[in-house]
Amino acid sequence: MKTIIQHSTDAQISTQITDIYHCKIKYYDTHIRFYTDQQIDLDVLRQTHSTDFNYLPTLDFSQIKLFVSDMDSTLINIECIDEIADFANIKPQVAAITERAMQGELDFKTSLIERVALLKGLDIDVLNKVYADRLRVNEGGRELVRFLKTKSIKTSVVSGGFTFFTNRLAKDLGLDHSRGCVLNIENNQLAGTTQGDIIDARAKAEFVRELCNEYSIELNQVIVVGDGANDLEMMKIAGLSVAYHAKPSVLAQANIVISFGGLDKIIDLFDE
Ligand SMILES: [Mg+2]
Repeated sequence: MKTIIQHSTDAQISTQITDIYHCKIKYYDTHIRFYTDQQIDLDVLRQTHSTDFNYLPTLDFSQIKLFVSDMDSTLINIECIDEIADFANIKPQVAAITERAMQGELDFKTSLIERVALLKGLDIDVLNKVYADRLRVNEGGRELVRFLKTKSIKTSVVSGGFTFFTNRLAKDLGLDHSRGCVLNIENNQLAGTTQGDIIDARAKAEFVRELCNEYSIELNQVIVVGDGANDLEMMKIAGLSVAYHAKPSVLAQANIVISFGGLDKIIDLFDE
């Protein structure tokens, strides 16, 4: 018997489903569950009802100890580097490279070096403006972090973007850990280069392993969430991977897919 989660409480939708598949049903505060032996194509349900559906993974959620989220377009609404580029009037050029990198068409490291070089000479006040005026935590993100804390699950953000944003966001949300790339600054201007390691797909997975070591936990006690090709390595090694409003290549490889609702849909999985 498998459990399917409808990540909404829309009874019209759930009635249609039980009419077709004759499965057992249970209502929760934030979602609905179906119990069935049939193989149901969830992509059909998702498209038909514009609602998130997932098979409940066979995972002991009480053993989850760590949550790791990508930042840009996952935990927050923007790609920070594209917004910084807007202040240099080169957003379309930079955003086009970001998009191709996230689709997995370009090498992340090379593409980041290239994009950062285009930002050389920008006043660092631009970073403050992006954070204050454009960056928002995605829907359900704050609720999710609050929920994870009640479960004593450590929370962290990892990004191919910059520590200026990851550190602030971690502070703002009360996350336990953050990691990003360091932007070099000269005379209060972006130098067009980064310092130290670039956080590519491998480095993101390495961050997850490091935290597992730090807390003496196993990889299968970790939930990761991401949207781009550079999240795939950490998604591969974690106990549970969530694709959040993700690129097609990421959707195909994730355990859980959220494409309509907010990050708080992840909480539905923890209910009993
Ligand atoms: Mg992203």
